[in-house]
Amino acid sequence: MHWETIHKNTAPVVLPRLIDYDRARSAFTWAQAREALAGPADGGLNMAHVAVDRHAASDRADKGALRCVARDDSVSTVTYAELARRSSRFANVLRSLGVGRGDRVFTLLGRCPELYTTVLGTLKNTSVLCPLFSAFGPDPVAQRLRLGDARVLVTTAALYRRKVAALRASVPGLRHVLIVGPGAEDLPGTASFDDLVSAAPAAFAVPATSPDDMALLHFTSGTTGTPKGAVHVHEAVVAHYATAAYALDLHPEDVYWCTADPGWVTGMSYGIIAPLVHGVTVVVDEGDYDARRWYRILGEERVTVWYTAPTALRMLMRATPRNGPYDLPRSFDLSALRFIASVGEPLNPEAVLWGRDVLGLPVHDNWWQTETGCIMIANFAACEIRPGSMGRPLPGVDATVLERGEDGRALVVDGRVTEVRRPGVEGELALRPGWPSMFRGYLHDKERYDAAFADGWYLTGDLVHRDADGWYWFVGRADDVIKSAGHLIGPFEVESALMEHPAVAEAGVIGRPDPVAGNVVKAFVSLRPGVEPTAGLERELLAFGRRKLGPAVAPREIAFDQDLPRTRSGKVMRRVLRARELGLPTGDLSTLEGTA
Ligand code: ATP
Ligand code: MG
Repeated sequence: MHWETIHKNTAPVVLPRLIDYDRARSAFTWAQAREALAGPADGGLNMAHVAVDRHAASDRADKGALRCVARDDSVSTVTYAELARRSSRFANVLRSLGVGRGDRVFTLLGRCPELYTTVLGTLKNTSVLCPLFSAFGPDPVAQRLRLGDARVLVTTAALYRRKVAALRASVPGLRHVLIVGPGAEDLPGTASFDDLVSAAPAAFAVPATSPDDMALLHFTSGTTGTPKGAVHVHEAVVAHYATAAYALDLHPEDVYWCTADPGWVTGMSYGIIAPLVHGVTVVVDEGDYDARRWYRILGEERVTVWYTAPTALRMLMRATPRNGPYDLPRSFDLSALRFIASVGEPLNPEAVLWGRDVLGLPVHDNWWQTETGCIMIANFAACEIRPGSMGRPLPGVDATVLERGEDGRALVVDGRVTEVRRPGVEGELALRPGWPSMFRGYLHDKERYDAAFADGWYLTGDLVHRDADGWYWFVGRADDVIKSAGHLIGPFEVESALMEHPAVAEAGVIGRPDPVAGNVVKAFVSLRPGVEPTAGLERELLAFGRRKLGPAVAPREIAFDQDLPRTRSGKVMRRVLRARELGLPTGDLSTLEGTA
């Protein structure tokens, strides 16, 4: 079939609901998902066409694609037809600027409708979209613009002034800066996004797009070191589609809200692409985190599926603890919500119990990485939730646990690895490449990419174990695991245990070198509002840890710290805690929250 025929494909997308996990796994193939979505494999595939134009040409044209909740709480709707027109106008803007296939378009924006216009228009034009966190400071912004060969940047006047203007000269390849909202006229070297878009024609013929054409560039969160630019191609949309059907249980009638920052891979794959492919209505909240605001939006917009992160859930847990009172969430009608999905860092069992007790809702953990481009391991609506487990591999995903060496990473002997067969034995999580959203490289860093594979497996850098029934349990990043008196201790287990204590809001756990034990476990703990950090509480927490974990694993030292260092995607940066503790350089801090 030819590109023109595919391009006209408006068939509604249907993958059966996952009702029987084993059956779905044995029946599923990626080829089948691709065909359901876009026709046979030789016809080309454009992510934005699949996400929006396909709906705009169907009877779903007038359905709400976006429900935008502005900072002032006013709400507006953008239909699929309108989103298709706006993104076509932006594609025409790019074309008129001489920006073409493979050229990089960066965004430095909060969540707003223009973000969707930019992302989809860029993809239609076969240019490459790279989102940045709007909270980045000037250096990390300039560094990524240079690393990613930026041609175009879409941002706001305020962000441009604070984060780009001073270092613009250090990014000579950046030809066009487009300013969303007012202010372009006062900023030399920029143009108004809104003027250009409204003057551009609303019709755009999407050029033939190969499934292997580069579509997205995502910098990893930088939890472990210098951020890496992961390259993704148009075909990834097949994986966004299938995984959102299975793990997020999305169906056209859903109202879906993803709280992830648009600068992070989740904000793209599951904030923009996947839900639009499913033709659902996407809530776009331009405001900041606030427990009351969030409960209100969940209720008033009748959200059915909510995708968020442990750090956000912990904030809600702080505002509305499990031991009550429940007045705040109970004052909103959350009856439309089926479940909460969580991703980005380990989901403490306490958060699952909190969801059950306070909201009456299941919380589904999901595991994946910037590199994998889509959800790999998850809990499903149709399956038992085991609090603390990230669930099971998705249909189409072949995962395993590899025997590890001293450093926690997979042990490779003569190019061969060994799979762990026994339940409960820790090893490195590995995935068999072959799913459509697998990253195709780290930009300008082939060596690092090649080092991520061994014996036909992609090595994730995370330690896990698998129980006898096939549920996966996260232990820690290989780099974070603590070796103490012959034991290998996953910081997550210790943090989760501490969080069960009513005084503890959050914890970050590291190994502190010790002449006898090699390392001893040290916990940095932030307390719930109103709790005082006393020597008595310290002793109580040490005893609590010993009771829960046993003396070999329990923390030997506790330090109170209300301001744990975190990445902008919400993860506790243990490497920063460790470096501070040891008086070492903290390394690349560009993704550290609060440095902007
Ligand atoms: P960098 O690779 O630059 O150090 P990063 O790994 O934090 O940063 P991401 O790709 O955003 O960047 O995050 C993926 C990682 O996040 C996973 O490898 C894992 O360590 C952690 N993670 C994601 N989801 C989960 C989860 N559900 N449970 C435990 N850990 C998770
Ligand atoms: Mg990583």
